[in-house]
Amino acid sequence: KHPPLKIVGVELESRRGRFCLLRLRWRLRRFGVRLSFEQQNVTGWCSFFCLLLGGKGKPGLLRACFGVLQARLLFCFEGIQLRLQRLLETLKGQPNVTKDGKSIRIYCNIGSPDDVHAVQVNDGGGIGLFRSEFLYLNSPDYPTEDQQFEAYKKVLADMDGKEVIIRTLDIGADKQIGYFNLPKEDNPAMGMRALRICLNRPEIFKTQLRALYRASAFGNLGIMFPMVTNLEDWDEAMRLVAHCRQLLRERGEEFDPNTPFGVMFGVPSACLTAEEFVEHGCNFFVIETNDLTQYTHAVDRDISIAERYYRPASHAMKKLIRMVVEAAREGGIPVTICGSAVGNPANTLQYLQLGLRSFSVSPQNLIEVKKALMNAKIK
Ligand code: PEP
Ligand code: MG
Repeated sequence: KHPPLKIVGVELESRRGRFCLLRLRWRLRRFGVRLSFEQQNVTGWCSFFCLLLGGKGKPGLLRACFGVLQARLLFCFEGIQLRLQRLLETLKGQPNVTKDGKSIRIYCNIGSPDDVHAVQVNDGGGIGLFRSEFLYLNSPDYPTEDQQFEAYKKVLADMDGKEVIIRTLDIGADKQIGYFNLPKEDNPAMGMRALRICLNRPEIFKTQLRALYRASAFGNLGIMFPMVTNLEDWDEAMRLVAHCRQLLRERGEEFDPNTPFGVMFGVPSACLTAEEFVEHGCNFFVIETNDLTQYTHAVDRDISIAERYYRPASHAMKKLIRMVVEAAREGGIPVTICGSAVGNPANTLQYLQLGLRSFSVSPQNLIEVKKALMNAKIK
């Protein structure tokens, strides 16, 4: 077996380099690796440096086109995966409890139905974040209600009664899809994104909601909205949900009318008013650390020149997270934390101390997180 390869630098020579890098970043997310464009450390087990342009001739740089880069990464993963495999064999099936006996929940984040296998292999208790964008990204046109229904139903059936939380469409910002014809924006992360697009184009949103509701008859489904900024977002989304419920009843479709709906906390304004969402019928909370870090620290989550500002467990982050946890506790609803940062045990342990008992991580990171939590005590 090859020893793990540490990639020290990458120089993209393709004219489409930036585009390739965006795609690569999307793929790496599934491995829990956050890829940035500047020379910097990346959280997690893969210390990966990327230098895009302007690095020509610098010593130690690995010159790579996209294909070579992928090959190198696979080579790197092989070594790491061997170590994780051994750990998995030791811990698989053991209950998720801290050293002082507190039960915890460890779910997985996935980006496509193909990832369900990885969830099962890595002993995931459920799916805490299913990014539904894959359907739209892999399609030349808007996916139909039936196409979406089949995809969601398959994941729910494959998970065999375990909880699956599907996030409604989160495009915009770094995830652009041609046929949406989104307006060109100078700062798309702050503009038309995720739920904002869905509320602006209700027909697209309602198609997805109907497909999700129909899939609810085939498993244990939760549905959540990304980029909720204020209560009006939530109320408007829930009005459309009610409309879809009514339509499905009229059509005589089978679905679970008690399907829970949740808010994703990626925007600080929502965290600061978390209790209002409970009052307005929200059934569960999910904190998304990638976006919450970005919007709290005013630092681009991906193209970060100022990496030192990207701190998912900063004092500011902890204050916001505590508010959400407290609102959930008072409202008697569950709260989960997800995002790349949670795949790094150093962060997970801090989140545990903030009161979190439910974590959702990339399948590949689960076993290391489990090990850390099993060895932890709550202060
Ligand atoms: C996040 O923002 O933390 C998250 C999990 O969602 P995504 O990375 O897909 O934006
Ligand atoms: Mg997000």
